[in-house]
Amino acid sequence: MSTISTNTPTAELQALDAAHHMHPFTTGTELAEKGARVITRADGCWLNDSDGNRILDAMAGLWCVNVGYGRRELAQAAGRQMLELPYYNTFFQTTHVPAIQLSAKLAELAPGDLNHVFYASSGSEANDTNLRLVRTYWAEKGQPQRQWVISRWNAYHGSSVGSGSLGGMKGMHAQGGMPIPGIAHIDQPNWWAEGGDLSPEEFGLERARQLEAKILELGPDNVAAFIAEPIQGAGGVIVPPDSYWPEIQRIVDEYGILLIADEVICGFGRTGNWFGSQTMNIRPDIMTIAKGLSSGYQPIGGSILSDEVAAVISGTEFNHGYTYSGHPVACAVALENLRILQDDGIVDGVRDDTGPYLQERFASLTDHPLVGEAKIVGMMGSIALTPDKAARAAFAADAGTAGFMCRERCFANNLIMRHVGDRMIISPPLVISRSEIDTLFERAWQSLDEAHEQLKAEGLMEAAPRM
Ligand SMILES: *Cc1c(COP(=O)(O)O)cnc(C)c1O
Repeated sequence: MSTISTNTPTAELQALDAAHHMHPFTTGTELAEKGARVITRADGCWLNDSDGNRILDAMAGLWCVNVGYGRRELAQAAGRQMLELPYYNTFFQTTHVPAIQLSAKLAELAPGDLNHVFYASSGSEANDTNLRLVRTYWAEKGQPQRQWVISRWNAYHGSSVGSGSLGGMKGMHAQGGMPIPGIAHIDQPNWWAEGGDLSPEEFGLERARQLEAKILELGPDNVAAFIAEPIQGAGGVIVPPDSYWPEIQRIVDEYGILLIADEVICGFGRTGNWFGSQTMNIRPDIMTIAKGLSSGYQPIGGSILSDEVAAVISGTEFNHGYTYSGHPVACAVALENLRILQDDGIVDGVRDDTGPYLQERFASLTDHPLVGEAKIVGMMGSIALTPDKAARAAFAADAGTAGFMCRERCFANNLIMRHVGDRMIISPPLVISRSEIDTLFERAWQSLDEAHEQLKAEGLMEAAPRM
């Protein structure tokens, strides 16, 4: 059988990769030395690499392969669409059937009066759209001075200049002139790391009220919007205390600023509902979507706007768009993906069946000596590694040392789990079965054991002094 994967030996592929391929968020020289792992094919929740390993992907790629790998319907939808109409733009008063159908479907699925979709090819692009969109909205309403967008430290909203500025990753801001002006950041609701002596509920309120303080500092008439992920993903799956979102909703309502929910990870079943905004019970004016929208089978993202925001924007020519806004193949694949999520009962399963099972097993990780807290909503979860649970202590070693060590053990045990600093995170395909969940836990426990042994052997179980 001929396949797309070649029979080129792994070392040769790695050498060519190192010579010519530059990887995102990677120190190229380090990777060149080690050799990148070459993934050759995948099915369900499993990846194959060029050395013949079968790897359980507990990250669904980059949080996106919600329906799992190898769904023929999606390949067929793409093939059919490519033969019928591989491309046409949606500029200049034209449209096509896939964009129409997908938009109508998204309007049906999205909560409240979020009924209007502006397309991009990624989450980064969609958040760039949002930045211009909210400012244009206020300009059209006669308040052009409303320029400020408030976000949060350690948020992730993408990697382009606009979306990376909206995000709150200091390492990203340090390179290439970000953040751009007009964006302010408040602290994140990460109780484990930053809650001090406050209860989670007190801390959640305190962090939410930073939004109010920031609005007052900037001037309530100068603020356009607040943007946040319902649950921070790339920041380490930070589940906010229950008190947090109701207070944020109160504040955006009171000051009349727009709320942008970045649903790029939380959307499309990840939290057990179609959107994280439903799980967190918030009412955004705009939602950012990407990733699970197509389960990663095609690059597509977008913004879903409320009736009111869309009506204001539609009153002018919004001088913005991408060649591939509403790409017909991407739209056709996304539409078929939504059908699968719905008809196969995948979102319901995350809420009522395999989701609760995963959550139960995940919570038991706190029995491990290296694990402080375990937090999970739907199928996105994280654990905090700690040298001292009772004190919620960080490691004395550089942040990320223990996390990286644990991730390397996971890799060696054919489990993909990611680390963010010293938090380990999972976000598996939503189709993961109970027995695969059991395998996930056996391998995670084993990896934690091995990391624990290594940390002890290297004298790294020392706690950092309390701040
Ligand atoms: C991944 C991500 C983005 C950026 O999406 P890209 O498709 O990588 O540009 C934006 N927001 C959130 C919450 C994300 O997780």
